[in-house]
Amino acid sequence: MKITHIEAHPVRVPDVPPFRWREGLPGSAEYGGADGVILRIGTDTGAEGAAYLSRLGAFPLVAALVEKVYKPEYLGKDPLLREWHYHRMWELDRLHEFPLPVFGLIDVALWDLAGRVAGVPTWKLLGGMRETIPAYASTVTFDSTAQFLDVATQCIEAGYPALKLHAWGDAKRDAALCLALRAHLGDDIDLMYDGSAGFDLPDAIYLGHALSEANFRWYEEPMREFSVSAYRELARSVQVPLLSAETSDGAYMNSADFIMAGAATFGLRTSAGLRGGITGAMRIAHLADSFRIRAEVHGGGIISEHLCMAISNTTYYESLITSSSVTRESIVGADGLVRAPTEPGIALPPGIDYPTAVRHLARAA
Ligand SMILES: [Mg+2]
Repeated sequence: MKITHIEAHPVRVPDVPPFRWREGLPGSAEYGGADGVILRIGTDTGAEGAAYLSRLGAFPLVAALVEKVYKPEYLGKDPLLREWHYHRMWELDRLHEFPLPVFGLIDVALWDLAGRVAGVPTWKLLGGMRETIPAYASTVTFDSTAQFLDVATQCIEAGYPALKLHAWGDAKRDAALCLALRAHLGDDIDLMYDGSAGFDLPDAIYLGHALSEANFRWYEEPMREFSVSAYRELARSVQVPLLSAETSDGAYMNSADFIMAGAATFGLRTSAGLRGGITGAMRIAHLADSFRIRAEVHGGGIISEHLCMAISNTTYYESLITSSSVTRESIVGADGLVRAPTEPGIALPPGIDYPTAVRHLARAA
């Protein structure tokens, strides 16, 4: 089998209701509209795979990469040699410094293609670990402690067994919120905190003490992940387990340094979007497993569903709660569980107009 087509197609990004993150980070309404792109790989046998990305400027960037980089590199190659293509992408990255969300697109399309060729969902091709996983409610930032507590109650009533806060990014205010949330929900609910890199080391330590006191399950990304040394100091200073390396450059190679610094005491973050595609995400999962720590999948969506079903040392699916009037994400059952995808390959997210892209391709051919 040989790759005969690599194409980028613009697609409409489904509307997202407005929400906000911590102070200093633009909310959803302030991004100015993302571009959607589907990267499609076709072969001489008719087998094909696709990967979807939504990001500001995604379509023009990926379209340029297709013409200037991907076609010269990948046309005529065997699409099933995913490991070879993955290493090649790191070589090309030395020259092009791909944005992390773009780095893994080829890899995701190849895993989609491989699943379709095999006639099985990609999570089974990756090994296949489980058919259901519990989802945690991952909040956006709300206005007040009272509103957060109300949202938390709604999440638990909706069936979510655990909850993660994205709060204000104010160490003292967030610490008080975490203690109030633990008192509000009692001791049996898993609680996690995500700082979205809003702190420096002194404030991260201050908040970490409160998270220990409130018995939080993990403490995620309190600082930008450029300084592994700062994370080492944080790990030495607080008891709450750290979940590290969600966005750091260098993907699995850099994640290894977080482990060696003692700064991944709960585990590593993993994702196709920021860790180098599915191949990169699985590498991180296996790396973490070797050190008897977890690999928690960053963000929701169809690719994360596949990873959650394939990774043995993971705990939850991340389900975003964007409104103070809570509705359960459609793929999460009333029992709080996400069930494994059944279609061959990966499939694209719901609402993405893939048929239009295919028709466009047919017209262009
Ligand atoms: Mg995070």
